[in-house]
Amino acid sequence: MTRELRGTAPDSSHDHAPSTFASLDPRTGTLLAEYPVMTESDVAVAVDRARGAANWWAAQGFRGRRDWLLEFKKAIATDADDLARVVSAETGKPHDDALLEVMLAIEHLDWAARNAKKVLRPRRVPSGLVSANQAATLGYQPFGVVGVIGPWNYPVYTPMGSISYALAAGNAIVFKPSELTPGVGKWLEAKWNSLAPTQPVLQVITGLGPTGAALCRAGVDKIAFTGSGPTARKVMAACAETLTPIVAECGGKDAMLVAEDADLDKAVEFAAFGAFGNAGQTCAGVERIYVAEPVYRQFLDKLTDAVERVTPGGSDEDTYGPMTLPRQVDVVRSHIADALGKGARAVIGGIDSVHDRFVDPVILTDVPEGSSAVCEETFGPTVVVNKVRDVEEGVERANATSYGLGASVFTRNRSRGRDIAGRLRAGMVSVNSVLGFAGIPSLPFGGIGESGFGRIHGADGLREFSHPKAVTVQRFSAPLNLLTLERSARDMKISAWMLKARHGR
Ligand code: NAD
Repeated sequence: MTRELRGTAPDSSHDHAPSTFASLDPRTGTLLAEYPVMTESDVAVAVDRARGAANWWAAQGFRGRRDWLLEFKKAIATDADDLARVVSAETGKPHDDALLEVMLAIEHLDWAARNAKKVLRPRRVPSGLVSANQAATLGYQPFGVVGVIGPWNYPVYTPMGSISYALAAGNAIVFKPSELTPGVGKWLEAKWNSLAPTQPVLQVITGLGPTGAALCRAGVDKIAFTGSGPTARKVMAACAETLTPIVAECGGKDAMLVAEDADLDKAVEFAAFGAFGNAGQTCAGVERIYVAEPVYRQFLDKLTDAVERVTPGGSDEDTYGPMTLPRQVDVVRSHIADALGKGARAVIGGIDSVHDRFVDPVILTDVPEGSSAVCEETFGPTVVVNKVRDVEEGVERANATSYGLGASVFTRNRSRGRDIAGRLRAGMVSVNSVLGFAGIPSLPFGGIGESGFGRIHGADGLREFSHPKAVTVQRFSAPLNLLTLERSARDMKISAWMLKARHGR
């Protein structure tokens, strides 16, 4: 009989490490399916197959890959409802939220397919005066095989942000989905296989943490990791053994700033969506709101009204679903308790809002800045609303955590909004919306500090999955011949004179 292994790594010291794990519907605990816990040797076989497929894929060229990826996109779009159904079953999110995630992923796949050539193809670059005799070309080449390790909160949108761009750049993929959402990964793999059954350009390996760790050590050429900071550290340590490069997309503690001139109705609508959508399980969701003193009371009242209409539950009509990762409930409870213990006030909800599978919305205010609810990722349907003197104090507080993923600012003065955006310590900022950047394929997605490094999406995302290739072709002999063991005194003298003339004044 197979054990359920949701979120627990098998103990390898036991003689009988489980060979399968269960995927459950978090709304009910119903068993959806069982999947193999893939071993180190299973992972090695997948990477080996990917190596062969990578050669075929690279040989397709930009044009060929574009056509394949647009077919892939079409196949996913045609069956988008079915994919959304799998997402909804494995994460518990309402069907429409799941479908929205699929729509966004498709937009990115389309952009990556259509823009890879423009961004990555070899192009002439200036050679400079000293090397005017050389024709210089810069191009970008695929790494070969990219290992993608994904989270469960957006099991299509997030990993596809790596997969689409890595594929478009010419790499084959071995994808380890979260153990909470293996079915989504297998769905995507099956969709690719329905188009190119003999070319395993997108393979999925299932398992828990150790399967991901095996992927890091399997000789892949790059790892694209999305998940928590603590796991990113383990991934980096494993990749350090073989100097395998990684891109790390980790957690956030995103702040929203509300200036005294903000459109409060809009700010409230976005705040409610950013904080409570997907049960707050959004890496770049809103976790902290700093409101300028003159509008604080009004904002809090309006947000309270809006959140009173929120209904958590297991049906597609509910606002949001359960906590997908059962143990996250304890983190949410401890953040609320810590804040209240330090003198915060609960405007809506409190400790009793945290149930077994579901968490009712919680708004906390007057939360001390040293509380875990302000400093650490909560990843649940709770939000901190704190009053600040003005938006400048908001910027200071927003910048005071170790995270740096996204942020948002609300002001009617757009140029002031841009200025504030420039001063927020975050990889991405939306002015007068939240998560505005997530649906724009030409913008890079990623953070700094505890939120990780490297970028997916956009031209930077395509380059993230390629290595630059510098090529020079000598067109004629250099008038000053310096790259020789028989350098002449005359050439050296002229060069030394040129150095001073060009750079020494
Ligand atoms: P997690 O770190 O627990 O797991 C992520 C993945 O890593 C899973 O597939 C897991 O099996 C695998 N893993 C676990 N141990 C491993 C090891 N030792 N070596 C290799 N792989 C290992 O994260 P999670 O709970 O799945 O996801 C939630 C986190 O992801 C949150 O912090 C959230 O903010 C973050 N996230 C970030 C982004 C982003 O783009 N920045 C997007 C979505 C989620």
